[in-house]
Amino acid sequence: MTVPDYTRLFALDYAGARAKFLAATAAANCAFASYRHPDAMGPRGEELFVDVARLGSAKAKRQLIIISGTHGLEGASGSAAQIAWLESSGARKLPPGVSILLIHALNPYGFAYGTRTTENNVDLNRNFVDHKRAYPANPGYDEIFAKMLPRDWTPAALTDFGDALAVYREKHGADALFDALVRGQYTHPEGTNYGGRGREWSNRTLQRIVDEHLGAARQVGLIDWHTGIGEWGRSFFLCFNEDGSPLQAEAVRWWGSRSILEQRPHGFARPNYQGLVFNGLAQFLGNRPMVGAVIEFGTRGPNMRRALHLDIWLKFRAEKESERVSLLRADLHDAFVPVSSHWREETSSQAIEITQQAVNGLATWSLTPSAAATSS
Ligand SMILES: [Zn+2]
Repeated sequence: MTVPDYTRLFALDYAGARAKFLAATAAANCAFASYRHPDAMGPRGEELFVDVARLGSAKAKRQLIIISGTHGLEGASGSAAQIAWLESSGARKLPPGVSILLIHALNPYGFAYGTRTTENNVDLNRNFVDHKRAYPANPGYDEIFAKMLPRDWTPAALTDFGDALAVYREKHGADALFDALVRGQYTHPEGTNYGGRGREWSNRTLQRIVDEHLGAARQVGLIDWHTGIGEWGRSFFLCFNEDGSPLQAEAVRWWGSRSILEQRPHGFARPNYQGLVFNGLAQFLGNRPMVGAVIEFGTRGPNMRRALHLDIWLKFRAEKESERVSLLRADLHDAFVPVSSHWREETSSQAIEITQQAVNGLATWSLTPSAAATSS
């Protein structure tokens, strides 16, 4: 495969990424729909959209959903992954009966403002819980949160927080610490991985998209592009099909057992993630089976903890604008979507390959009655 020209795929900001996505989908003759955010605007007063592009027939029974920007800031990578595949030869010869639904910037606010979370500091990938029931408890997070938002972002404050984490690790172990930090929490609106207190606009919009665009689908594939877990520039899969299920076996058939089985993010036991987009989609699709994964591109490995932390510090504690804030912001962006041409070329190549594997898998997925039965 030739090396992708990353300057054609990546943009400097949300508006630029949207323009590139619009141009690429128009060139590929996609049908197009946009969902405008009803009350949030971008930093320069621009309107914010979740954009939906369809490649192939809306009547296809096999449909692949490809999402970018669930975590807004990571959207620059997901958007490039979508465009890279659209411009590849695979997009020009879809297998019969297969269609693609590209969802661009599912969290456009976060994309536009350079933060992982939504306009309400909600981690959209923890928001798909049943908000009418009691929220999943996370007592570990309550213990850790106290030192997370220091008044000033100084090495001393970071050491303080690191010490608090070390105490927790000592008591409960490294896996439990990682689980408490990232599984999702519903008690600290200024914290990381906050799942919210109601359905976010992006959550409700995703349901509209399923209702309006996936009516004909009978078998669904999902790629939800993310960054921040895994080795630098390498893909890392978090497949949420149930362990040992026929649907997980199908994911293995598409992407290989080394990618799908026994994945340990940053080397830790997989957290008990709550409220995932994957769960929301599965629910919106009803009893139609879905095979898919969150697919990350690795950046700074375990050092990403500090970047997650910096994201909320900039939101809730930083002075308005200053050289220092600009320096910190540049570091945050580079932590999630490295400026490096090597990283961008490498991840774009992998995005094309991984998407093509999903397309081929979806085209040849034979649905057994047992797979259909376990899909709910
Ligand atoms: Zn993410």
